[in-house]
Amino acid sequence: MKYLVTGGAGFIGSHLVDAVLAEGHSVVVLDDLSTGQQGNLAQAASNPLFRFVRGSVLDAPLVDRLVLECDTVIHFAAAVGVKLIVEQPLTSFVTNTKGTETVIESAHRHERRILIASTSEIYGKNSSGRLTETSDRILGSPAVARWSYSTAKAVDEIMACLYHRERGLRSTVVRFFNTVGPRQSPAYGMVIPRFARQAVRGEPLTIHASGRQRRCFLHVADAVAALLLLLERPEAEGEIFNIGSDGEISIGELADRIIAQAKSSSSVEYLSYDEAYGPGFEDMERRVPDTTKLRDLTGWRPRRTLADILADAIADARSEWHGTLSAPIPAASGPLGQLVPAAGAHASETAPVAGWRA
Ligand code: NAD
Repeated sequence: MKYLVTGGAGFIGSHLVDAVLAEGHSVVVLDDLSTGQQGNLAQAASNPLFRFVRGSVLDAPLVDRLVLECDTVIHFAAAVGVKLIVEQPLTSFVTNTKGTETVIESAHRHERRILIASTSEIYGKNSSGRLTETSDRILGSPAVARWSYSTAKAVDEIMACLYHRERGLRSTVVRFFNTVGPRQSPAYGMVIPRFARQAVRGEPLTIHASGRQRRCFLHVADAVAALLLLLERPEAEGEIFNIGSDGEISIGELADRIIAQAKSSSSVEYLSYDEAYGPGFEDMERRVPDTTKLRDLTGWRPRRTLADILADAIADARSEWHGTLSAPIPAASGPLGQLVPAAGAHASETAPVAGWRA
């Protein structure tokens, strides 16, 4: 099999690339390196079955060429992270709607199977216990930037679903809940990599709002295991699946756990949502996935605990911190749409995760 992975230089995408290559398949990654890093693909770059193309999913002729040469398309390219969405709402919205439309149209034109990444943000402010794939969406005003991400991803889902129903596109949508692991950047508002880095540096951990809001975290290796299982199942076509953990923890408790596990001297400090993201930011109290549908079809269950997740995040933060002290990370370069050899990678960004299969 030959896979096209859009956004494959990103956090989840690069782990999937490693897993698919490990199974002997060929992979082409299309990524504009806006939030992804070539260093994430350092392990893949030495594999002759791997090719990296720097370019955008908004470039329709390029997307079409790459889709044509592959059997299966994994569409992960997106503007991701609350901070990025709030700071660059228009660019993010265009990437997350037009980019997906371009990839879906091409997959349909060439009759390719496609797996599309969506998000638990779809559910908006619905905090009512376990969320199934058919749970309601409860959103704030479209004027609030955060909900534009949710809406863009909903448009993607609708497109995938209607193309399947009306035109036979072999599409599967996955809704990732908070996914964590090595290579995740703290730069765009992801809480565990941010806390881990603050703890390792002995800086205060900044908790947004009261810290009583509760979240569930899944290790990226468990998320990738779910993706591999879904890709094997034709019954997954035309369907939407939640992928996440149902173990809840409050953000305040999470900060304490990270400080303890990192044996850090850090304290905690509180920042209002307004201070963190500007006026009008809205958040939800809790968000818990119901993954029964995924489990019933594939038998998937997460294998890693929160302690495993935090151990990896702390190790990643430590290795980055030590690397920062000794050597700078090489910047990626190269014109859009061209092949670029993978740059030398930072230790923390290359960390392979063993045992993809559940
Ligand atoms: P990421 O930012 O690490 O990966 C996204 C990748 O897309 C990056 O490599 C980025 O450079 C690339 N990209 C952005 N715009 C592009 C464009 N126009 N053309 C080509 N490439 C482009 O984020 P991630 O966490 O790996 O997310 C992967 C997917 O999973 C995204 O679709 C995201 O919406 C979804 N998701 C992730 C999470 C999570 O917890 N990490 C949760 C919900 C949904």
